[in-house]
Amino acid sequence: MDRPAPFKINGDVIAPGTRRTVDIPVSTLSNHTPVNLSVHVIHGKRPGPVLFVSAAIHGDEVIGVEIMRRLLRATPLKSVAGTLLAVPIVNTFGFLNHSRYLPDRRDLNRCFPGLSGGSMASQLAHIFMTEVVQRADFGIDLHSAAIHRTNLPQIRLTPGNARLADLGQAFGAPVMMESRLREGSLRMAAEEAGVDVLLYEGGEGLRFDEFAARAGLNGILRVMHQLKMIGAKGVPRTRGVPVRASQSSWYRAPRGGLFRGYVAVGDAVQPGTVLGAIANAFGDVESEVVSDMGGIVIGRTNMPVVYEGDALFHVAETSRGEAAAEDISAHLDAAPLFDEDEII
Ligand SMILES: [Zn+2]
Repeated sequence: MDRPAPFKINGDVIAPGTRRTVDIPVSTLSNHTPVNLSVHVIHGKRPGPVLFVSAAIHGDEVIGVEIMRRLLRATPLKSVAGTLLAVPIVNTFGFLNHSRYLPDRRDLNRCFPGLSGGSMASQLAHIFMTEVVQRADFGIDLHSAAIHRTNLPQIRLTPGNARLADLGQAFGAPVMMESRLREGSLRMAAEEAGVDVLLYEGGEGLRFDEFAARAGLNGILRVMHQLKMIGAKGVPRTRGVPVRASQSSWYRAPRGGLFRGYVAVGDAVQPGTVLGAIANAFGDVESEVVSDMGGIVIGRTNMPVVYEGDALFHVAETSRGEAAAEDISAHLDAAPLFDEDEII
């Protein structure tokens, strides 16, 4: 088999069979501190696809950073075919500030593909596109819910993309949902550049969540195995059947007040299921939030103090709610420990 050519990035040359962290200059902070886009490159001895994995495009979505830390230590990555470009923290500014946004208050995931002479967000988007995305054949972008919200681990798919549907199935998250591409998102810019991207959602902003960390790590390893980048050894088998959903609804607060949730992410609901209730502080006024559909709770707020109109529950519509909930609990029960020191 032919040995692959060295991988070139940012003027660095990475030999086949080696790995290195490359710091790509982005900007300088007002106090003279340099800001880099740091990319860990694992360039395999054997030829294969180039896969990028990115996290913290939203700076407070730290679960993806933890997934990446585990991924880079994972044993199957000791022998890789092709090249992995791992970017644990895309939005360094937001990560340092525990914020979803950039210091200029822009959302990086609405600024793709970016411009070299644009706003700070636009410049960062441009560097990420040209140095990482456009060098890859395929990508996985890791996200979580915003702060005070949690998401059931789920894959978001571009509608009508059969290759992504296959790789999403291989990822093996409990839920797969089609969601349209948003203008300015990494997913849309990458698709336009011919690079398919799977989006993983799991857990809560600024929090670690063991189930979401394991589901994300296991999913990336399964996709790498499906792409023949790594062997089967050390890659956990898929548990349960991913629940496919093409529609979902948000249930919003009918009034402001104190919110109690009665269902958790992964629970099955039926038309008429009471999802939660909102009361005033005196306890003499109470409103229930009732599901009008059958499905699975894929996201909810963790904030007990709500305004009228706040999003409380995200429910994916599926006709096989109870069976799907059993599949999801199979994921939970069976999530194997990756290695002993990962127990939290
Ligand atoms: Zn996000």
